[in-house]
Amino acid sequence: MIAFGNSKKSDSDSNKDNKSLSDGVINLDQGDPTMFEEYWMKMKDRCTVVIPAWDLMSYFSDTKNVCWFLEPELEKAIKALHGAIGNAATEERYIVVGTGSSQLCQAALFALSSLSEVKPVSIVAAVPYYSTYVEEASYLQSKLYKWEGDARTFDKEGPYIEMVTSPNNPDGTMREPVVNRKEGGKVIHDFAYYWPHYTPITRREDQDLMLFTFSKITGHAGSRIGWALVKDIDVAKKMVQYLTVNSIGVSKESQIRATKILNELTKTCRTQSESFFEYGYEKMNSRWERLREVVDSGDAFTIPNHPQAFCNFFGKTISSAPAFAWLGLKAERDLGSLLKENKVLTRGGDRCGCAKKYVRVSMLSRDDDYDVFLHRLATIKDLKCIEP
Ligand code: PMP
Repeated sequence: MIAFGNSKKSDSDSNKDNKSLSDGVINLDQGDPTMFEEYWMKMKDRCTVVIPAWDLMSYFSDTKNVCWFLEPELEKAIKALHGAIGNAATEERYIVVGTGSSQLCQAALFALSSLSEVKPVSIVAAVPYYSTYVEEASYLQSKLYKWEGDARTFDKEGPYIEMVTSPNNPDGTMREPVVNRKEGGKVIHDFAYYWPHYTPITRREDQDLMLFTFSKITGHAGSRIGWALVKDIDVAKKMVQYLTVNSIGVSKESQIRATKILNELTKTCRTQSESFFEYGYEKMNSRWERLREVVDSGDAFTIPNHPQAFCNFFGKTISSAPAFAWLGLKAERDLGSLLKENKVLTRGGDRCGCAKKYVRVSMLSRDDDYDVFLHRLATIKDLKCIEP
């Protein structure tokens, strides 16, 4: 990335000294993707959307579409972007838009389980898993499905749904289903992070039910737009039924804004000086290099090694630069509490089905917060300070 001048040592020099001295709490628990604001500020009015008061008033977008609340222009923009990046097939499948992919995940659980003859359907994911799946599968206490935890140790008879997140939240690994029974199983592939600024694009995914989110591509989490690419029309219809009962569709204002921004990504993705993906990759990679420097300079912490791979989009071999760091302690101690004492909030490994010596750290915060995080990590990396 050229135009934005990322430097390896510091994402942002402004405010850095003040912030590193500050004793404020840094919240890296949620994966709030504010780090991309800088890019969009530089884009100025390119993606500004103006909507007159008389426009977009109807509930309906296209009554002929299975997903009748999907704006046709958004559908085109989604297909064009996947085509340009090469990360997923969009042919011969239905696109279901949702209020974030969180809503679509619940719609998919409803669809797949209500189409199953035997209920409740077991829901599993291999540890460490995205902690929100536990809540999504449990909080309504549905009779349709039941959270059963780790997919690797799952041995219950009957139908099941496996959540496969690739690259994985929280540890950035590339994943395949692990249950792999001959029958009775359905898979929801969550590809929230299968974009070139996070991971090499090694193949065009062609799964039955794939989830994507606008939040983690561009950072526009506040627009609450996600989409599902669904092969089976009955599953797509059931998902639409869920969304109809749940929210009677999805905000058209958000869809129009997402359309504008996704089209801009597609238009500029091959122009090195403007490409969001070039920018995003440089920025993520620089953050990871700095984190590794801090971890490697002591003997207290562990982070996974993400193998390099040839990225079909960039046309070269690159490292992964995941949206979360799965930080561990070599000592047997609660790392979340240790970091909290040092005013850094993270998500404890226990919420992801693992030991408390691991935490999930968001890599997507604003520059200032990330700088303060590294500074605090460097001050506690000395083993003597962290012995029980
Ligand atoms: N799936 C994964 C793996 C995620 O990390 C997230 C966001 N944290 C989501 C789904 C949900 O994203 P959203 O609802 O913002 O589209």
